[in-house]
Amino acid sequence: MAERRARTRWIAGVDIGGTNLRVGLVPFAGGRPVAVSSAPTCAARGPAAVVEEVVSMLRMVIAEVGRANVAGVGIGAPGPLDRSRGVVLETPNLGWHDVPLVDMIASPIGLPVILDNDANCFAFGEWWLGAGRGAERLIGVTLGTGIGGGIILGGAPYRGASDAAGEVGHMSVDYSGRRCACGSRGCVEAYASGSAITARAAEGIARGADSALAAAVGDPAGITAEMVCKAAAAGDGFATLMIDETARLIGVAISNLIHLLNPDVVVIGGGVAGAGELLFAPLRDEVKHRAFRSAARACRIVQAERPATAGLVGAAGVFKLTVHGNV
Ligand SMILES: [Zn+2]
Repeated sequence: MAERRARTRWIAGVDIGGTNLRVGLVPFAGGRPVAVSSAPTCAARGPAAVVEEVVSMLRMVIAEVGRANVAGVGIGAPGPLDRSRGVVLETPNLGWHDVPLVDMIASPIGLPVILDNDANCFAFGEWWLGAGRGAERLIGVTLGTGIGGGIILGGAPYRGASDAAGEVGHMSVDYSGRRCACGSRGCVEAYASGSAITARAAEGIARGADSALAAAVGDPAGITAEMVCKAAAAGDGFATLMIDETARLIGVAISNLIHLLNPDVVVIGGGVAGAGELLFAPLRDEVKHRAFRSAARACRIVQAERPATAGLVGAAGVFKLTVHGNV
């Protein structure tokens, strides 16, 4: 195994998430990532400490195959970013401002480093080696603490005029709806992200909804999206209604995307997607009733095939695309 690894050429992929850091090695030719490691993102300790952790994780995985066998490093980080300068401009989840991430990693590691948006990396990873392999038009959606999105057209991420394309979470589904952290109203993220599900469930319980969740936690503020999913799976009426409503709102957003881009596949990942058919059945039903029939029929809506590693695989893929011209 060690000998085979030393004969293969690799790309290191890094996924900087709000909760976890993930690092691994992806074969240059494509394939299953190896030496994948993860660690909690200690955002409270500031960007320098997080970057130090990433550098030490990178050193460990690179040592497994020898630095000469690693072409470079692809990093997926939450944005907005300035890709050309390799700088993270702003990340509400991590509290970073103008962090020169590429320089901070390239100088200690001594390899070329490429930076891209984490949701673009997720979408590209699922397109390259996951549930949307080879699709001509793919939309990736991550339902996590926030809602991210990435668009892959003709084998490359579509980034728009200022690298801000694919912000699926900030498509409004109600012009006078819930206030979103971005300043707008009715963004799907304000209803269907993990933290929004938590907030909506707590509001429902505080209003006196009849649910096992109320007894499970003394304080409604202690409810998590995962608890709501579990309660729904166990047949709790209120939790089931919450997940159904969440799914239908995501369905509205995806119907809008289908009308705009007529994609072949929409791949959905992130913690909330772990609810499985409880989420996907009403979501697909909503799309079926809203989108043009020919467009809805042409579009598969599927769960991510690599929920844990699509981000780092995609970051490695974007590195290859950048230096090699294709994957
Ligand atoms: Zn928003």
